[in-house]
Amino acid sequence: MTNATLSRRLFLAGAATALTVPAMPRAVFAQAAPATGPFTLPQLGYAFNALEPHIDAMTMEIHSQRHHGAFVTNLNNFAKDHGIIGSTPIAKLLAEWQQLPEAIRMGAKNSLGGHANHAMFWQIMTPGGAKAPEGDLKAAIDRDLGGFDKMKADFNGAGGRVFGSGWVFVTVNKDGKLALVSKPGQDNPMMDGQMVLFGNDVWEHAYYLKYQNRRPEYLANWWNVANWSKIGERYAAAKAGKLAI
Ligand code: MN
Repeated sequence: MTNATLSRRLFLAGAATALTVPAMPRAVFAQAAPATGPFTLPQLGYAFNALEPHIDAMTMEIHSQRHHGAFVTNLNNFAKDHGIIGSTPIAKLLAEWQQLPEAIRMGAKNSLGGHANHAMFWQIMTPGGAKAPEGDLKAAIDRDLGGFDKMKADFNGAGGRVFGSGWVFVTVNKDGKLALVSKPGQDNPMMDGQMVLFGNDVWEHAYYLKYQNRRPEYLANWWNVANWSKIGERYAAAKAGKLAI
């Protein structure tokens, strides 16, 4: 069904029941199919409902398909007129975003950051797996962030203090040193030459359907779905110079 057909049906339905409160038109959520190009929407690797009860299925579906999908569409559109967008590693584009063509600079920065942030985010969550860091990663957390419990408390605190929309990250450098950092909007630590070990999305769209204004509760529950196997792999990749996003 096209959006035009949908809108017409809703209009007719509304006219026939003028005294009832009209349903929210679904067209509000409609989005063009992602334009084809060098950027693609990654697969989650698990079902939309796999992270319940901590993250609900509708949030996962809308977030991964529509919110992330919009960044992919935007990047493919930018790439049509600006080949550099599609042909340069995303870490380099983010590190040098201030040299992007002025006409697309802010939009491209936001969409590059949004794509990198979300592609990382889907990877580092899982319905099962190790419940805590192990091995080299555990040792680095103990050394640089005061241990697993302190890291979680500090991460939750930093995520709670993000004003409005943004992200909280643990970054890693090529020597394996970790740091906690938060960012506004879709900014990403690659803009500062850092690599992301893992991060959590504190935009309301990441939690509002289930948690409404209770961001601290979302942050606390989120650790139940952290994928420590994958985060451990990312730690090893960062030290080997092979972490791409
Ligand atoms: Mn998001």
